[in-house]
Amino acid sequence: MKIYDFESGSSDPVLNDELYMREALKLAQKAFEEDEVPIGAIVVSQGKIIGKGYNLTERLNDVTAHAEMQAFTAAASFMGGKYLKDCTLYVTVEPCVMCAGASYWTQVSRVVYGAPDEKRGASKFGNLFHPKTNVVSGILLEECATLVKSFFRNKR
Ligand SMILES: [Zn+2]
Repeated sequence: MKIYDFESGSSDPVLNDELYMREALKLAQKAFEEDEVPIGAIVVSQGKIIGKGYNLTERLNDVTAHAEMQAFTAAASFMGGKYLKDCTLYVTVEPCVMCAGASYWTQVSRVVYGAPDEKRGASKFGNLFHPKTNVVSGILLEECATLVKSFFRNKR
């Protein structure tokens, strides 16, 4: 697996969040091109992308094949351990209850998402993330939301 190095990037945390969200958006775009609901996710540890995923529920015929689940599996395999402490999950759309639950089990340090999901987002159900997980929302919100909206517009 190719490891991207952003260590030369900005020291501004918001700019870094945007930089990583752009990588997640690229994966969402890939999902879009494959006619999957366009959501992408990456896991970052110490400036390196250690896990990536995009929604593959249609291709795999698997309702659990969300972007976050695949990014977590890849990251854990890279780390050689199931916990993702000191890691950040970037995902273009707010995680659902399943993915928030998976985040809980990984104990990931931060979850950064772009667009809220009013229908299926986990925040409707209270905080399902690990108490130690810091959750940030609204990074590149417009771009993340536009991709999903245009996907569903094409479906109608
Ligand atoms: Zn999910």
